[in-house]
Amino acid sequence: NNRTYSMVKPHAVADNHVGGILKMIEEGGFRIVALKKTQLTAAQAGKFYEVHAERPFYGELCQMMSEGPIVAMILEKENAVADFRALIGSTDPAEAAEGTVRKAYAKSKGENAVHGSDSDENAAIESAFFFSGLERY
Ligand code: ATP
Repeated sequence: NNRTYSMVKPHAVADNHVGGILKMIEEGGFRIVALKKTQLTAAQAGKFYEVHAERPFYGELCQMMSEGPIVAMILEKENAVADFRALIGSTDPAEAAEGTVRKAYAKSKGENAVHGSDSDENAAIESAFFFSGLERY
């Protein structure tokens, strides 16, 4: 599959890092298929991160993801899911490699600047959560 789903997290939107992050994404070889700014309710964030419901940070994660607007996008590139996760770097910014989005913009394990789907199956589910077929170009 050649598409993945990503979003710029609220702290990075609030700090005006959308342009810098999109620049890294485009220069990383990804084409933007769909893009919008929107805000999740805590309930919607809870649904999006349902797989993490049993993790100790779930409440904090849902709160953080709904505290302000996010920028949601579908991205296209050969090997999109794996290549995008390489571009964003480790979940923990202390472990993120030089040149990755999280090295540049993450503040903590939770406020780690961007989300990237972890499988083709989740990329399709997450893309459908945010975008209709008519919003993809
Ligand atoms: P994502 O799925 O968002 O791309 P990931 O696969 O790198 O991130 P996961 O382990 O799936 O990381 O965790 C999902 C999200 O939960 C992380 O991106 C982060 O925002 C948050 N998170 C993960 N671990 C912690 C933690 N220890 N404390 C607080 N928040 C965390």
